[in-house]
Amino acid sequence: MIHSVSNSVYSTISQNLPFYRLHNFDPYPYLEHAIFTRNGGVSQAPFRSLNLSTSVGDSLQAVKQNVRHACQAVNATLNQTVSCHLIHGADVLTINKANRQQVMGQADGLITSDPNIYLFLRFGDCTPLIFFDPIQHAIGLTHAGWRGTMKNAAGATVRAMVNQLGCRPKNIMAVIGPAIGPCCYEVGQDVIAAATETFVDSASLFTHRNGNVDHAHFDMWEANRRQLAAAGVEQIIQTGLCTACRTDEFFSHRAEKGSTGRFGVIIGLKGDA
Ligand SMILES: [Zn+2]
Repeated sequence: MIHSVSNSVYSTISQNLPFYRLHNFDPYPYLEHAIFTRNGGVSQAPFRSLNLSTSVGDSLQAVKQNVRHACQAVNATLNQTVSCHLIHGADVLTINKANRQQVMGQADGLITSDPNIYLFLRFGDCTPLIFFDPIQHAIGLTHAGWRGTMKNAAGATVRAMVNQLGCRPKNIMAVIGPAIGPCCYEVGQDVIAAATETFVDSASLFTHRNGNVDHAHFDMWEANRRQLAAAGVEQIIQTGLCTACRTDEFFSHRAEKGSTGRFGVIIGLKGDA
């Protein structure tokens, strides 16, 4: 078992709940964020313990308690959080004070530059992409599994931040959060074929082990990094944390054969408004 460690995040604790923060976000006191782990909650196996998803079969009461606890840890109320129905696409919703709802429609990316809106998505192998532009005071949070990656959800989020919030790509910091890594993400011909259509030099995103041509290990982290770079983002931060290697800390749909929970990522701009 590989135990990946990351230099870009550090572990902290608030309201008795452990979570990760990014060193790169520390200089901005008005920015609140957390990458939660699976620890510190009340859910029972196989959702032990900080499962934040109501769509995996966990007790609704346990999830509600976990969500409340997660919100408290970042000094947010549940009403300030905004989520959406994830559909493995590349649609990005722009949230503001006027249109915000706790659960928006179907999308895989959320962006805002309004304070007191806490973007909140759940993950369990798919890539969390976390965005922050300190010049425009804009943030984003995107869910990119392999399907979303093939639709360039990363690039779509950058474009939305540019077009909707006036950001410049070179000012945006983009974080590739804990997701299933090239060490563990074995895929079949469907993913290999889709990547061939999507990426220049797609072969370099795959490693074939033991001469196996039908299956390969896919580097989804690197695929997203290339899309962010192609969109003009210069500050790309890899957490390098593999959810499947680290089931002690994260939920992994693949490593736990579909019977597991989802951990959360929250980001918001603090303000008086
Ligand atoms: Zn791994």
